[in-house]
Amino acid sequence: MTTSPLSLHRRALIGGLVAAPTVLRFGLARAEGASLFPLGVASGDPAPDGFVLWTRLAVDPVAPDGLGGLGAPIEVQWDVAADEGFRRIVATGRVTARADEAHSLHVEVEGLQPGRPYWYRFIAAGQQSPTGLSRTTPAPNADVDRLKLAVASCSNWESGYFSAYGHMADEAPDLTLFLGDYIYEYSRTGERAASNVRSYGLEDATTLAGYRNRYALHRTDADLQRLHAAAPCLVVWDDHEVLNDYSGVWSSDPAAATADFLQRRAAGYRAFYEAMPIRRTRLDARLQMPIHRSVRYGRLAQFFMLDGRQYRSRQPCVESGVARGQIVTDATCADRLDPSRTFLGFDQERWLYDGLARTDAAWTILGQDLIMAGLRFETGGDTRYWTDTWDGFPAARDRMTQALSTLRPRNPVVLAGDYHSFWTNDVKLDSRDESSPTVATEFAGTSITSGGPPYDGLMAAMKTNPHIKFFDSRVRGYISMDLTPEQMTARYQAISDVRDPSASVSTLKTWVVEDGRPGAQAA
Ligand code: FE
Ligand code: CA
Repeated sequence: MTTSPLSLHRRALIGGLVAAPTVLRFGLARAEGASLFPLGVASGDPAPDGFVLWTRLAVDPVAPDGLGGLGAPIEVQWDVAADEGFRRIVATGRVTARADEAHSLHVEVEGLQPGRPYWYRFIAAGQQSPTGLSRTTPAPNADVDRLKLAVASCSNWESGYFSAYGHMADEAPDLTLFLGDYIYEYSRTGERAASNVRSYGLEDATTLAGYRNRYALHRTDADLQRLHAAAPCLVVWDDHEVLNDYSGVWSSDPAAATADFLQRRAAGYRAFYEAMPIRRTRLDARLQMPIHRSVRYGRLAQFFMLDGRQYRSRQPCVESGVARGQIVTDATCADRLDPSRTFLGFDQERWLYDGLARTDAAWTILGQDLIMAGLRFETGGDTRYWTDTWDGFPAARDRMTQALSTLRPRNPVVLAGDYHSFWTNDVKLDSRDESSPTVATEFAGTSITSGGPPYDGLMAAMKTNPHIKFFDSRVRGYISMDLTPEQMTARYQAISDVRDPSASVSTLKTWVVEDGRPGAQAA
């Protein structure tokens, strides 16, 4: 956290002048002297022989047209080295950064050795980017002793500083997971802006330029840049990468036409792709853009990164006027129970169950956006549900828990974001029946900055939900995990103050999951 963006840029600039004798100048009329790498670097989607390298060139990160102050194509060199000093460069190439992808680059590196660190950098127009550290995954059948993960979700720029991201970087994880709400599409206005620590200073994102600029602003943050440069990541989205509480092709605004919302969603998805170190994916004719994928980490872990937004059914009972994202009963919202409703979409469900049937890794990790175990609000003889989580899609959850129960992947662990609070849950085979078997362990990270839900109200509801072993919405932070073949340890890491850019971190709670025994135990 002592590295300011300015000093990062200066170091990159000086390094570039020394290291790159070939100066290429394309379309830099407005860029003379400015750093081309104010957004840092990132890597992701690791494989045994490579990973994706990412950067986005810009000189004016939030230029109103969303093009970062650049126009013409720029030729960029990328280097991957076996050592931090780049004495042994093992892969290199040239790519062209173009305006139609906002000068973002996705280099899918191949041909590397499994299970080891590599360092990478970009060079353009005589400038060198900051360097990043990435890692290939171990060979598919390698025995792996240990894997260190850091798990993040929900970073509202206006709600706080990203010190949690900085502490994640300090832990030097092998892999970082981002589980959604990486940006927020709206800016707070009026009274709500009074509690802002800093302002987006941007109109609500509804267009490609608007979404691009949200990601760009986040990436100017020194703590977030440092985290991306420290480890490869696996990223999925939740709702705020497009619009609060949207569901599939349906806007959360019942007045919005589906065709208009689809255009907005496509803009958000495209900006997500451009901003993230993920493998090539694109919008199809239906304006869908697949991002679900699986990554194996030797014999130790198989990650299934799931998309809980794009292929969903509509939020239940919107048409009957109960509306989205509300707490409903079976009497007020009968269509919640419709067995044809889906959460992941039937294609993604099939893909997942195929994968669950085949994996033999010691740990099966479902990285996704929303709480799966469910929460029943028991009030005045009624049972109520919040419809935006898996609770709005009980038939889809039943199919998932049945699949976990019958396909028997080893040690299923669900990771979730969205709720801005720490949760430790037993995922039950039948979410209506506390006595049914536990089929998976679930951990929900709190938020990097976003404000939590009311603590007292939710704690009152926990009394009638014994499958929820822990809940705390009062702190911001992340989850730090260690995996070995015998056990998983999850540490709930809490920062001291979201309003303090140099906040300290401490461990709120530690959990252990033992091989062969679903459900976390307090350590
Ligand atoms: Fe959130
Ligand atoms: Ca969310």
